[in-house]
Amino acid sequence: MTDRSTPPPLRAVRMMAKCPICEKTGTVEYQPFCSKRCANIDLGRWLKEGYRVETDEVPADDEGGGTGSGSTSQTG
Ligand SMILES: [Zn+2]
Repeated sequence: MTDRSTPPPLRAVRMMAKCPICEKTGTVEYQPFCSKRCANIDLGRWLKEGYRVETDEVPADDEGGGTGSGSTSQTG
């Protein structure tokens, strides 16, 4: 038996991270997003969430009674 451990690749292939917004690979400049546009989209998203947290009022538990008659139709 020959103990031959394979050396790690000299050049590690760098996989471009997929854009969390559109799942496309873009430029490194806007990592992990593909472009400034997607970066802005994500920024706006978490900004919105941040603002929502600031509210003191707690939304009342409003369980929709539902006027439907039992059957739930799923529309995909
Ligand atoms: Zn994108």
